[in-house]
Amino acid sequence: MALYRGKYILPDLDKITPEMEKDLDLAYDICEAYREEFPCEMCGRCCHQANIIVRPEEVERVAAAGQVPLYDFMTQWVYRTEDGRILFNKEPDAPCRFLGKDRKCTIWQDRPEICDDFPYLVSMFMSRVYLAIVNPQVDILRMIAYMDDTWPCTREIKASIVDRVAAARKQRAARLSAGA
Ligand code: SF4
Ligand code: SF4
Repeated sequence: MALYRGKYILPDLDKITPEMEKDLDLAYDICEAYREEFPCEMCGRCCHQANIIVRPEEVERVAAAGQVPLYDFMTQWVYRTEDGRILFNKEPDAPCRFLGKDRKCTIWQDRPEICDDFPYLVSMFMSRVYLAIVNPQVDILRMIAYMDDTWPCTREIKASIVDRVAAARKQRAARLSAGA
């Protein structure tokens, strides 16, 4: 079972039907393939986004990598949302405080996992790919209109996602008609 389902979306794993699991795997395979084919070019564009999540188990590692005392990190560098998530504390469009002047991440090896997953393996994208696979009337390009396609990674997605979703739909239809 794909890891992402328990990490960012669909925490109720026991409620996923076997059929839905197969469809989620189709979506996951598309997203994972992008990461393999178009690895991050470290342009730093996405490091200006809001809502960069640090998972609780990552806090100490990230703070240590940035040489920030844990107390300072917890009280100044991050904040907790009402639903308990830990986010980097910064203005919405400001650069992440770990982004260097050369636009490279200064804690690359220890950055939060969301930074490694973005933009391919995050629920915002994967859930849309899944919905487009199971609903043939859904226009995947409209679903991902939020993506800025001047970024190297999102440009690749927008150039090829329609064909990949179409292939996954065919795969799914063949599976359903075979009763597998
Ligand atoms: S915008 Fe894309 S290519 Fe640039 S740093 Fe972020 S993930 Fe990497
Ligand atoms: S930790 Fe690094 S990769 Fe993540 S947003 Fe900050 S600068 Fe970018």
